[in-house]
This record gives sequence, structure tokens and C-alpha cells, in this order.
Amino acid sequence: MDERIRKELSVIVGEGVRFDCPMDAETTLRAGGKAAALCVVPGVPELRKLLACLREEKIPSMVIGKGSNLLVRDEGFQGVMIRLGGDLARIERSIQDRTILFAGGGVALAHLLGFCQREGAGGLEFLAGIPGTVGGALAMNAGAWGKDMASVVEQIELISGDGQVTRIERSQLEFSYRNLSIPPGRVILKAGLRVREESRENIAATVAAYLKEKKAKQPLEYPSAGSVFKNPRNDFAGRLIESAGMKGARVGGAMISEKHANFIVNTGGATAADIMRLASLAREKVREQTGIDLELEIIVVGR
Ligand SMILES: Cc1cc2nc3c(=O)[nH]c(=O)nc-3n(C[C@H](O)[C@H](O)[C@H](O)COP(=O)(O)OP(=O)(O)OC[C@H]3O[C@@H](n4cnc5c(N)ncnc54)[C@H](O)[C@@H]3O)c2cc1C
Repeated sequence: MDERIRKELSVIVGEGVRFDCPMDAETTLRAGGKAAALCVVPGVPELRKLLACLREEKIPSMVIGKGSNLLVRDEGFQGVMIRLGGDLARIERSIQDRTILFAGGGVALAHLLGFCQREGAGGLEFLAGIPGTVGGALAMNAGAWGKDMASVVEQIELISGDGQVTRIERSQLEFSYRNLSIPPGRVILKAGLRVREESRENIAATVAAYLKEKKAKQPLEYPSAGSVFKNPRNDFAGRLIESAGMKGARVGGAMISEKHANFIVNTGGATAADIMRLASLAREKVREQTGIDLELEIIVVGR
């Protein structure tokens, strides 16, 4: 990225920009290459300027949350990663309608759950232990325990590359399993989420029970990106990978978890190539044995 563009980005986001940013530190897999820049934007005006600049200069970009479903290839991402902060990471409860929470796309799910607990706002407990943001959870239609974001969202606000903000109501949103279909380049700014009155004690107890169960079943002691593959219809990717004898298989520092076969964990020093190679091996084995072609759930970016 040349000096002129670096200067321009610095003017737009000030100290929120980092150049040649190692993405291993920004993703939960703790692996992968650098992004040409990572910009943390504090609000819509800055985001609008940034998107205009990137469009004008034809620089690729991608919005990220906590990078908890993301693998950046070792060769890096020759563009700008955008993260939502400041005003875009705030939560408020609607005054007119107490059953709606407005959460910015950059709000961490853990923070959202803390807010819900303090407010006595139930219904989002299924997000316990998902280490993402509201924007990432919506984009991935994240879910657990039979619920997903599609079941709680009322509306979202999006900004397009040309800076136009639109609101989309629940009935117009096209969710599917671990996906929300939005036009490329759109950024989720904010969402209205449906909650219900619930006692703080009940919320705390449900969250604690979910976290306990996750801790027992998932290899949380290692860096990972959660489930690597989507579950095929009527089956579980983890069960198929385990049946293919791949539990404990390794490539470099990457290992298929002994605890949960749909998790690839970084046991230390794994490269993105190690992780991709291991995922390919698991996929090949499952295809050989069952004819089922597993589809990646994690998002892979970069050259
Ligand atoms: C230990 C562990 C447990 C997990 N458990 C679960 C689980 O139970 N259920 C589940 O569904 N997932 C789970 N995950 C996966 C992951 O946490 C979720 O997919 C999460 O919602 C991703 O959010 P993120 O903010 O980290 O998104 P990122 O990984 O940063 O990005 C994921 C995708 O979302 C897009 N995106 C992010 N923010 C925005 C935005 N504002 N606007 C538009 N697009 C955006 C990105 O461009 C990218 O395509 C788990 C992961 C880990 C590491």
C-alpha cells in the first residue's frame, strides 16, 4: 500500500489504523498472514469516508468482527480489514418498546449478554460462549441450542459501498443455515433484536449452564474458529470426521481436536496452510467413506 493511501487512511480513522497488521493476533485461530491495513472505525461518518476512499482507489476490503470464524491465508490479505468500534459498538434498549434491543454491529456478544443480564432481557442466552460480534453473528446466522440469529432479529441497518444506509425488516432478510444473504460489500451497522422480560437470575443460570456444556464438549483450551465445517443435512460434521478416524490427526501445528472432531485447533505455531491442508484431508476422508462433501463454515480470505 503506497504512502499516499496510507496517509489518506490515517486522516480518516486517525489512530484506528494499523498497517501490515498480523491477522494471527486478530483471529481466534491465532494463525495466518498480514492485512495491508486494519482500520477500526468509530462511527458512520468515518466508515462512509473510508468506504468512499477504498472504492475510489479500488482497494479490496472486508469487515470483520472478532475474527472467530475467519482464516487469513499465510500470504495475507492485500486490502483493508474494517472493524466497527465507538458508536458502532453500542447497545441500547428501545424506550418505546422494551422488547427490542438495538446493538451496533461491532458489539461483542459477551458484552451483549452482560447488558441483557443487567437489564433482565432474556432470549439471547443461546449466544453464550460464541466469541463473535453482533455483525459477525448476523452475517453467519450464528446459533446454538436450537436457536439462531434469524430467530431473534427484527431488523438490520446496512451501509453500502457508496455510503447509503438502508434498513431491512425481518421479513425481507434471507437467512439460511449459518448464512445471511446480503449484497457483497455491505456492512451491518446495527440490529434490532427481540428480547423478553426475564429475571437476572434465570438469565445468569441459563448462560452458566450453556457455558458449562460448551466447556465440556469443546476444546476451549486451544485457539480455534469453532466448527470448521457446516453440518450436512440430518448429520453432524463432527460425527463424520470422527467416524473417518481423523480425531487427533495433525498437520504441522494444526490438529483435529480429540474432544470435538469438527474443531481444528492450533496447538502452537500452526500456519494457515497447515489448517487448510488438515481441513482438506478431513474432507477427502469423509467423502471417500460416505460420499458426503462437507462444506466449510469458516471464511477463508487472502491470496
Ligand atoms: C470457541 C468457539 C465457539 C464457537 N461456537 C459457535 C456456536 O456455538 N455457534 C456458531 O454459530 N458459531 C460459533 N463459533 C463461530 C463464530 O464465533 C461465529 O460464527 C461468530 O458469529 C463470528 O463472529 P465474528 O464477529 O468473530 O465474525 P468474523 O469471524 O470476524 O467474520 C465472519 C464473517 O462475518 C462477516 N462480518 C463480520 N462483521 C460484519 C458486519 N458488521 N457486517 C457484515 N458482515 C460482517 C465477515 O465479513 C465474515 O464474512 C464459535 C467459534 C469459536 C472460536
